[in-house]
Amino acid sequence: MRNFLFVAGLLLVSAMVWAAGTPPDSAAGQLPGTAMPTITSVPPAAQPSPNFNADAATDAYLALIPAEARTRSDAYFEGGYWMILWDFLYLVVVMLVLLNLGWSAGMRNLAERITRFKPLQTLIYWAQFIVVMNVLLFPLSVYEDYFREHKYGLATQTFGPWLWDQVKNLGVDLVLMGVLTVVLFGVVRRLPRTWWIWGAAVSLVFVVFVILIAPVYLVPIFNKVTRLDDPKVTQPILRLARANGIPARDVFEIDASKQTTRMSANVSGFGRTMRVTLNDNLLRRGSVEEIQAVMGHEMGHYVLNHIYKTILFLSVVCVVFFAFLRWGLEASLQWWGEKWQIKGIGDTAVLPLVVLLGSLFGFVATPVLNTFTRTLEHEADMYGLNASRQPDGFAQAAIHLGEYRKMSPGAMEEWVFYDHPSGRHRIHDAMTWKAENLKPLE
Ligand SMILES: [Zn+2]
Repeated sequence: MRNFLFVAGLLLVSAMVWAAGTPPDSAAGQLPGTAMPTITSVPPAAQPSPNFNADAATDAYLALIPAEARTRSDAYFEGGYWMILWDFLYLVVVMLVLLNLGWSAGMRNLAERITRFKPLQTLIYWAQFIVVMNVLLFPLSVYEDYFREHKYGLATQTFGPWLWDQVKNLGVDLVLMGVLTVVLFGVVRRLPRTWWIWGAAVSLVFVVFVILIAPVYLVPIFNKVTRLDDPKVTQPILRLARANGIPARDVFEIDASKQTTRMSANVSGFGRTMRVTLNDNLLRRGSVEEIQAVMGHEMGHYVLNHIYKTILFLSVVCVVFFAFLRWGLEASLQWWGEKWQIKGIGDTAVLPLVVLLGSLFGFVATPVLNTFTRTLEHEADMYGLNASRQPDGFAQAAIHLGEYRKMSPGAMEEWVFYDHPSGRHRIHDAMTWKAENLKPLE
């Protein structure tokens, strides 16, 4: 045990030194000349005319992006493909370290020495595991979530506040995931044959619970959400909401610029808790048309019941994952169980193996999960165009979002890596819609 604390401490210290050695970032975040342009007028080829052509209009919009901004966005997004691989491999190595050096068994032994009460043993093991895992993953997460985001002008936090957010994140994981872990191990111990079916059910209920509580209890831990009072902003949004059968009464703003330059918005809650939330980046940088287009898209998610469709999809994914987990755990423990000092599937020391198998599953399933999400996003895009009737505002939004998503990928690339349609696709959808649905073109 002393050995692993030493290595963990060493890693933490080296990461801190590395962090302290770099110059502080400006609070502005956005680097001049590299952000995507804000378009003040519709390009000539995208203006209404008798020979309006959706392809030419799309190209005209894309041509407004400076080469430097495009290069930067492509580099950021393509680098993200490799990050998927490095994240996966790094996590596998960390989990193998925990198993092979006996640290996992050590943490289990300690938990068993402290209490004889099984659920508490699981919780104590979990607390040790989550802290050790976060410490070992820290160097990669500092690079990926702090330095890399700053390098591309997407992050706005200095190191201290960023680290504090990570600590708060750890706290949330410690409590929420801790409860899930205790319940899941309880299920495995009581139902040794059918645990994987019940485990899938419990996990799904847990996911739905987190989706329900997130806007009210989790989001405020990290950001401030305030009610918008300016009728110039709220009236058009609420009018659009009511026209689409959404009983929203208030529009909220979230101070996302505290962490990022990314723009976004969402519709959350049920019945009387229904709310529309815009982030301050969208409010500050988006034109009226752009905000309407984005809100139309978000309302599409709501009206098309995407939350329920996602839960249904996740229930299938959950069952497939747990079936894979059962097979993977049994096979691995047969080979290496003794070496790792794991007594069985109900032994908490098995957790690093569960995480390893989970990340393997996630890595392989990435294109499938992305394609499911991208399909819903495309539906919301089309709904949003119909609802807002702002194809040019939508094109502007697609360009702004291109700050962190490559605009024009290959077909295969989009299928594998994109959880939203590409910017080119979205602008083309908007221009096709414009050609066929806006009166002045007839
Ligand atoms: Zn969406």
